[in-house]
Amino acid sequence: MAYMSTVVTWQTSTINSEETERLAEKLGSACRGGEIIELMSDLGGGKTTFTRGLVRGIGSKDAVASPTFTISKVYDAGMLTVHHFDFYRLDEPGIMSEELAEVLVDPQAIVVIEWGDIVQHILPEKRLTLKIAQQPDGSRALTFTAPESLAHLIEKAQN
Ligand code: ADP
Ligand code: MG
Repeated sequence: MAYMSTVVTWQTSTINSEETERLAEKLGSACRGGEIIELMSDLGGGKTTFTRGLVRGIGSKDAVASPTFTISKVYDAGMLTVHHFDFYRLDEPGIMSEELAEVLVDPQAIVVIEWGDIVQHILPEKRLTLKIAQQPDGSRALTFTAPESLAHLIEKAQN
């Protein structure tokens, strides 16, 4: 039988980018290093917007922008660093897979990944995933999924 860890899921929705950022900021305030967060949505879904709130919640004052052309960006948050990857339209991760593999085992790093399809084989099972779906009315449906060990992040976002 395949090993299956207990997972926690939570669905919510946000009506604008500010609400998404606030939610992400709360979740970020629970990060202590070593968290891996995969963001999934169509283009314009709100992954980078979520990352902006998250990075603020982790305690960084750095400006968050889409790393689409640089693939990765690093934000300073005191003792912690946030590594923001975006593999949009990349056919193969190349050297970036080595950089990603390194930070994934750094206990001081929080790793956020957009468009992570091509690095699925590197990502640990122990990660928080967020799926964002654009609704016809413009709001976003957010579905968080995490193993038990990261459930506290979701709990923080809920309160
Ligand atoms: P992605 O990184 O997924 O391509 P972005 O975060 O760059 O998406 O862009 C999301 C766009 O959608 C922004 O222009 C943002 O203002 C807008 N938006 C509208 N409603 C929301 C919402 N509820 N949550 C997040 N972004 C929203
Ligand atoms: Mg983006």
